[in-house]
Amino acid sequence: NLKMYFPVTRGIIFQRTVGNVRAVDDVSFSIERGRTLGLVGESGSGKTTIGRSIIRLYKPTAGQVLFDGQDLVQMENDALWKMRKQVQMIFQDPFASLNPRFTIGSLIAEPMHIYQMGTRQDIRTRTEELLRLVGLRPEYIDRYPHEFSGGQRQRIAVARALALNPELIIADEPVSALDVSVRAQVLNLLQSLQRRFNLTYLFVSHDLSVVRHVADRVAVMYLGRIVELADRDELYVAPKHPYTRALLSAVPIPDPHIEKKRQRIILTGDLPSPMHIPSGCRFHTRCPMAQKICREVEPAFEAKEGHEHYAACHFSDQVTSPVVNA
Ligand code: SF4
Repeated sequence: NLKMYFPVTRGIIFQRTVGNVRAVDDVSFSIERGRTLGLVGESGSGKTTIGRSIIRLYKPTAGQVLFDGQDLVQMENDALWKMRKQVQMIFQDPFASLNPRFTIGSLIAEPMHIYQMGTRQDIRTRTEELLRLVGLRPEYIDRYPHEFSGGQRQRIAVARALALNPELIIADEPVSALDVSVRAQVLNLLQSLQRRFNLTYLFVSHDLSVVRHVADRVAVMYLGRIVELADRDELYVAPKHPYTRALLSAVPIPDPHIEKKRQRIILTGDLPSPMHIPSGCRFHTRCPMAQKICREVEPAFEAKEGHEHYAACHFSDQVTSPVVNA
């Protein structure tokens, strides 16, 4: 039941709150150790805010984030300090997340110095190991970020995230700023590190084809809520929410025979403002299947057909795959 609301204020001297941006509005999910949950949705759906709330870059307005049974939302000072060692984040843009004034060795070693993980020599040796682990040569340790390509910079960011031996990594659009040609390399690296260290990932992305490659389960977000949650294969073959169906219809299919059978669903209108969430089903203003009840009654987020497949739609049994005969 995580909520993250941002107050909106007006006035320069006498500020008054005129409403809230409900960026994350009562969201619940779980991730098993060693697995990947893909969190997808368009810009403004709240997926990045969830990642930042988990790692406590934001303090959530309400709800819990349970990590090994402990509520991260309530943690302060020492407890928060210890938790940050176990939960790390990889940011979207490796051109912005690496400070250009430091060598990559200093950037990777910085968290280890802060957490006093050995002598200077121990930390240097571990930094070299981390560079090897992400496929970079340890001789690069004294170079600066501008000397590397986008893919190499994201590998450096991955090395830094791994420096403290975390258990959970929040990867916020980790490949969307990269050329298509190097995306697969970074995704494969993340997967091989997961197998090796039994890492758990929350993988945030707007790109369903990327999420299909890496996630075990997928949660689809719309306007601050999860509208569908299912095992990856089931979600892609048999979606139960019209929004997921529309997103899937936009994913290119490399096989021309199947591509021909694909229906394209164009959503009209923009994402409504998170300050003024529509009544009833929050997707009704854009949903091609909307009926009267949708404007009046909010659909429950519930299990469909007895599987571990959840969706929030009054007519989920009528939702079909956008690929005919899929
Ligand atoms: Fe569309 Fe209605 Fe289902 Fe909402 S409840 S997704 S508006 S059909």
